[in-house]
Amino acid sequence: MDKSPFSDFVDGDDPHEYGVFEGQCVACDAYTRIDDLGLCEECTGKLDRDMIRKRDWDYSASAWACPQEKREELRKLIIKEYGARLELIAPSDASKRKRAKRSRNSRKASER
Ligand SMILES: [Zn+2]
Repeated sequence: MDKSPFSDFVDGDDPHEYGVFEGQCVACDAYTRIDDLGLCEECTGKLDRDMIRKRDWDYSASAWACPQEKREELRKLIIKEYGARLELIAPSDASKRKRAKRSRNSRKASER
């Protein structure tokens, strides 16, 4: 019995229509048609390209539809076309540095 309470809504092969909601884009505040992420068409495109730049293939609709061996090609094309800079995602990764998720007990690094 792993029927989720939502299964009634997702059972048929009736994919929800994409980009048909009216609303305010969460990225650029435009009031227009948005997708289920709350992004307008333009920002969806930007996000898509950002994901490709970051090689987050699974999050990019165009990369997802692209054969794996062609993805790097696609990325190069996008960088050539739009530049390597992220368009939508703020490159603020410096503030949250990658930290190894390990127990702090077994920490051997010498402390200052
Ligand atoms: Zn937007």
